[in-house]
Amino acid sequence: MKKSGRGARDAAGPIRQCMGCRGRLPKQELLRVVRPPEGAVKLDTAGKAQGRGVYICRDANCFKRVKKSRALERSLQSPVPDDVFAAIEALLTENAT
Ligand SMILES: [Zn+2]
Repeated sequence: MKKSGRGARDAAGPIRQCMGCRGRLPKQELLRVVRPPEGAVKLDTAGKAQGRGVYICRDANCFKRVKKSRALERSLQSPVPDDVFAAIEALLTENAT
């Protein structure tokens, strides 16, 4: 008997949820912001840094929403340095053109 209902196993890899739109996307399509065990919150471009991570999709509107609502700070329970936002913004701008 086949088990069903849990969805097909996706070859694209793990699915994560965007903090901005709550959309669920393959991990590699999202930007990861991580709070390492030591040090400040940072943008984890490789997606492999240790620590608590949150994800946002590569959508400028999501980023704006997340920044404005301070969702990152709340979720990570830590201040997020301005340069993290600047780095995300730079990536999104790069992506858009
Ligand atoms: Zn999103």
